[in-house]
Amino acid sequence: MFGGIGPEGQRRLGQAHVVCLGCGALGSVAANTLARAGIGRLTIVDRDVVEESNLQRQVLFDEDDVRDALPKAVAAERRLRRVNSQIDVRGLVADAHHANIEALIAGADLVIDGADNFETRFLLNDACVKHGIPWIYGACIGSYGLSMVVIPGETPCLRCVVEGAPPPGLTPTCDTSGVIGPVVNMIASIQCAEALKLLTGQAHLVNRDMVTVDVWDARVQRMKVHALRDLGACPCCSHRRFEHLAAEHASQTTTLCGRNSVQISFPDDHTIDFDAVSARLAAVGRVQRNAFLLRCAIDTYDVTVFRDGRAIVEGTREPSVARSVYAKYIGI
Ligand SMILES: [Zn+2]
Repeated sequence: MFGGIGPEGQRRLGQAHVVCLGCGALGSVAANTLARAGIGRLTIVDRDVVEESNLQRQVLFDEDDVRDALPKAVAAERRLRRVNSQIDVRGLVADAHHANIEALIAGADLVIDGADNFETRFLLNDACVKHGIPWIYGACIGSYGLSMVVIPGETPCLRCVVEGAPPPGLTPTCDTSGVIGPVVNMIASIQCAEALKLLTGQAHLVNRDMVTVDVWDARVQRMKVHALRDLGACPCCSHRRFEHLAAEHASQTTTLCGRNSVQISFPDDHTIDFDAVSARLAAVGRVQRNAFLLRCAIDTYDVTVFRDGRAIVEGTREPSVARSVYAKYIGI
């Protein structure tokens, strides 16, 4: 009925394939909205398991999913199949990394960013620019969030706007600083509105500015970013050097034999700000520190972080679990 979409637009939505990379807060609102909009094929990729603290903002999940310790991708698929039986919904329990990201997004008409860390976003940016797939950046923290559409070849990519991922431990995370549901719903809704335009063949209507929202201050702003693409200096979209796909900046994980631990390290030089990280971690567990390392017990894990960002996550042998703990509590 909506003039901007109409019967022809609805038919196109039914033929579209969207990948939601990450199904936490933004991903679950977006997947929910897109499934109800009749997107023909929806692939939901996530590495995590539903936890009680997720329920405040991750609208696809409930207490049964927490009790059953369901992977988010599985819980999301089950829920959305009940919401709309006429579409094809697939949940993939997977940790996106440089070796599998291209396969995960292959054949997609569009990717929604529901990632909880910069490393994954830069990887997604490389893969989407390389294969000419539009993707919609989204991120939230506290009451603040932002979104930007990347149409390869037309608009600035993430690397045009942000040079690189911030060093580990620099940025607050939702799991240490909190995020409120209203901003998640707003940002995911903005992502979905732009997705509906793109998927109905109306790229000319897409907002090409970066949108920022602070729901606590009721402030919405648009930032012009288009000129950044014209500088021609972007390694990714100007020079087609896909450094993240080549894993040049990627964290490395090693399972430590016989110790029920995984080590995470970074190839680039970093110096962790122990004051900032320990202040944030104090909200989730008891922090011990000396000049060389910082240690915190979080849920069933013991996390030890060294000055250079290297960390040992004790309590798992699974690299994807350790990477998730790092992204949630230290921040990459
Ligand atoms: Zn670029």
